[in-house]
Amino acid sequence: MGMFDSIYVPCPHCGKRMEFQTKAGDCQLKVLTLEQATPAMLLDIRDQPEWHRACGNWVVLHDPDWKPPQLRAFKVRAPDRPGSSEGDYKWWPYDLPFTAADIIGEAAPS
Ligand SMILES: [Zn+2]
Repeated sequence: MGMFDSIYVPCPHCGKRMEFQTKAGDCQLKVLTLEQATPAMLLDIRDQPEWHRACGNWVVLHDPDWKPPQLRAFKVRAPDRPGSSEGDYKWWPYDLPFTAADIIGEAAPS
């Protein structure tokens, strides 16, 4: 209950690492990279914008092609209206579907 696995990626805005949580795996609080994540995990975290506490920007893991699954982190614009929040953390509004039009850029390859 309440367990998940964590997939960490570099934030495309600020470069600090950020977490995407998935319950699609065995939820042993594992810490994985995108390359280590299973296809089920990638499907679970795909196109789910997350707010990055470290820099206050939105990020999505998106794959324009999806053949085979290979997610990359993209910068996302702030939603038109706020979703729920708790303390200093924010969530993307549940009733506002993310679309590729919300993507505003990608980090330059390092
Ligand atoms: Zn950031």
